[in-house]
Amino acid sequence: SNKSLAQGQVAVYTPELRQASVENLKIENQLRNAIESSGLSLVYQPIFDRNKRLNKLEALLRWSHPELGPISPARFIPIAEETGLIREIGDWVITEACRQLKIWKTSGLNVVPVAINLSGHQLSDYSLVDKINRNCKLHGIEPELLNLEVTESVLMEQMETGKSILEDLTKEGFTIAIDDFGTGYSSLAYLNQFPASILKIDRTFVNDIDNKADTRVLDSIIQLANSLDMQMVAEGIETEQQLDYLMASGCQFYQGFLLAKPLPANCLQPYLSPDEINHLELSPYAI
Ligand code: C2E
Ligand code: MG
Ligand code: MG
Ligand code: MG
Repeated sequence: SNKSLAQGQVAVYTPELRQASVENLKIENQLRNAIESSGLSLVYQPIFDRNKRLNKLEALLRWSHPELGPISPARFIPIAEETGLIREIGDWVITEACRQLKIWKTSGLNVVPVAINLSGHQLSDYSLVDKINRNCKLHGIEPELLNLEVTESVLMEQMETGKSILEDLTKEGFTIAIDDFGTGYSSLAYLNQFPASILKIDRTFVNDIDNKADTRVLDSIIQLANSLDMQMVAEGIETEQQLDYLMASGCQFYQGFLLAKPLPANCLQPYLSPDEINHLELSPYAI
């Protein structure tokens, strides 16, 4: 599609573009197969509090293309959005996260909430509320155990419908997080009209800490979120220096490869163990 072309611009069909669209087609076809043949999976990245205890898990999609190998969701989700495949994928993620939560619950582990990512498509469809509710009831999952992440840019695209869907979900007891905050050029004052109680600071701002660059934007995000009584999760923490800075600045929750990478469900038992363990000391370099 030429959606990104401004009026009056001409699409030049270069070999590179052709190559890219051939690859997109390959991805689309195989993605269709993957949905039908359980080729998708979820990994879970731990998020910790300032006492270094596990606070929640973020569910992240994984898919391996038969020829192209593992493909990042950042690459295939936009294709799934364009082709409508995201509906089925989104439904699958909801069901799978609930199924996994039920497994953890019934095996006597210390269960923490799981956060799933919602796409723009899902946030424009009122049936989402019912789907999430139904899946939770079916698996015996309390709404407190499911958090929903929506990126700042999706919120800006789905102002009316998105807002009312999120309001309904909040009434049901689900917690909403604004994802990738700071990348969408909107103001937090504006986003405050959405019923989100968690702000996830995009990792570009976390990166600034090490570059000794300007941390004033990061500092003001943290201050503003605090004054709006929102909880904050910093994404993409890779160094001790970043973690120290964020802890000292009043950000309460931490996510990143330094602490733990996204892990398959069966590798998370140690983090969910009822025993007293300093979770942060556990194999940060696993997988
Ligand atoms: P996100 O929701 O912001 O997820 C965080 C991303 O940051 C994940 O990438 C995670 O692996 C990565 N990450 C975590 N810690 C670090 C770190 O220390 N350094 C670096 N460089 N990266 C880190 P991933 O899994 O590739 O997912 C990319 C994006 O794809 C997600 O960003 C989310 O927007 C989207 N996505 C993933 N799963 C789903 C899903 O089930 N549904 C939808 N709609 N989107 C999804
Ligand atoms: Mg997310
Ligand atoms: Mg994010
Ligand atoms: Mg992201």
